[in-house]
Amino acid sequence: MINKGRKYNTIISYRVLLIGITLVFTLGTINVFSIDHFDNAKTIVFLGNERIAPIIYNEKGTAKGVVVDIAKELGKKIGYNIEVRAINWDEAQNMVLLGEADALLQINPNPEREKFYDFSDELLKSEFSIFTKSGNTSIENLDDLENKTVGVESGGYPFALLQKYDSINIEPISDWKTGFLRVATGEIDAIVVDRWIGEYELAQSRIKGIQVLDEPIETQYSRIAVKKGNKELLSLINSGLKEMNEDGTIAEILSNWQGKKVIYFTEESLKYTLLYLVIIFLAIILLVSSYFVIKFRKLSKKLESDVRQRTQELHDTNELLRKVNAELAKISMVDKLTAIYNRRFFDTAFQNIWEISKRERQPLALIMIDIDSFKLFNDTYGHLSGDQCLESVATAIKSVIRRPGDLVARFGGEEFIVLLLNTSEEGAAKVAENIRKKVENLEIKNEAVGSVITVSLGVAAVIPNDDMRPDELINGADIALYQAKKEGRNRVVRQSVLQA
Ligand code: GH3
Ligand code: MG
Ligand code: MG
Repeated sequence: MINKGRKYNTIISYRVLLIGITLVFTLGTINVFSIDHFDNAKTIVFLGNERIAPIIYNEKGTAKGVVVDIAKELGKKIGYNIEVRAINWDEAQNMVLLGEADALLQINPNPEREKFYDFSDELLKSEFSIFTKSGNTSIENLDDLENKTVGVESGGYPFALLQKYDSINIEPISDWKTGFLRVATGEIDAIVVDRWIGEYELAQSRIKGIQVLDEPIETQYSRIAVKKGNKELLSLINSGLKEMNEDGTIAEILSNWQGKKVIYFTEESLKYTLLYLVIIFLAIILLVSSYFVIKFRKLSKKLESDVRQRTQELHDTNELLRKVNAELAKISMVDKLTAIYNRRFFDTAFQNIWEISKRERQPLALIMIDIDSFKLFNDTYGHLSGDQCLESVATAIKSVIRRPGDLVARFGGEEFIVLLLNTSEEGAAKVAENIRKKVENLEIKNEAVGSVITVSLGVAAVIPNDDMRPDELINGADIALYQAKKEGRNRVVRQSVLQA
């Protein structure tokens, strides 16, 4: 039983051993294969410094940056999935040494590092440059950093670089923004960092008053590092990089990121950009509204001036109408040929003056004038000369009648009438005689009568009263005139003489 049992046990032990060996072999094969041959299923892990934007940085847990894009393209070239993580730089370097990750992305070789890592071909050009406070002329090159406090990132390339100089006070800085602010305030003298990284940080954090020296203290080519001895991965990386350099992939990625240098937004710069946009927007609104205000003002000014112009035009038109009316009124009162009052005006005026004289019991005198043998004159010299003669006689009569209130009118044809206010018959006869002489003295020849143009005048005067009518006075003067004609013309006859 015991033997039987033993035999059975032995069989079981052999089986366990067989399974064990198979298991170990299988696992071992996978293990060996995975480490040494990087089959396509394996993800290669690249680690980079989280704080060197835009080369590589961490954005909400995702690695971003120039070399991240390069690494991803590299993965495609070599046919592997490459995962990139941006983490603390010291930690990253340790992880690769411990085999927890495969490669370091963006690292500059130095003798110390070369002890632990193998480096790929060139990746990016790094120009390690000195950033100082603007206007600081005491630092112009690496030698000037002697006895100065210089900020660098601990574990970074410049840190190792400056450590060679005992006289430089190296100040590890926790983040670039604080570092640059300390330079701006003069708390530290300078910062040494890759020029691209430094300028990018300054643009992002909008720190002013920092200058960068033109001459870099060292120009290096960053690389990808693998743990010393990992030749297979290194040659894969190098072949990928070579291909990417040749087909222009790297150049394309670089140019993409060069363009993004300043337009890449951080939360802070986004805030400022939005602020600027709002300011610009408000400025545009202000400009547009001012434009319209000015336009409306101009428009209302134009309207105002239009209204003023229209009002003026209306005023002018009214004035013109008034003048025209006055002219019309005058025309209706004045005789066109002789420019003295016409018969119509005389009739109206005579009625009024008659009433006034009656009320004031003032004498009113009339002189009726008729040109002698005027028909003959017309026949001899023609109608036009007759008209001229009428004008001259009218002017002559008017020149004698100067007293305000007295009135001279053309009574009709070659007859004129003179109305003299507050004038006795005797006074009127004198005026009539003056008229007679004045006309005679015109010496207008009237050949048909062998003499000159003369006038005959009939004078009548009365103190108007209720028993008399105005035309009685006219009749009186007319009778006197008739008498003057009868007596031989060119004379004055008074009505009272007739009565007497
Ligand atoms: P008497 O000495 O008796 O007054 O003779 P007379 O020729 O002046 O009188 P009559 O009444 O016979 O003629 C008046 C003339 O006056 C007739 C007419 O042709 C002329 N006459 C009237 N009005 C005008 C006028 O406006 N222009 C001209 N040129 N002649 C006129
Ligand atoms: Mg007559
Ligand atoms: Mg006559």
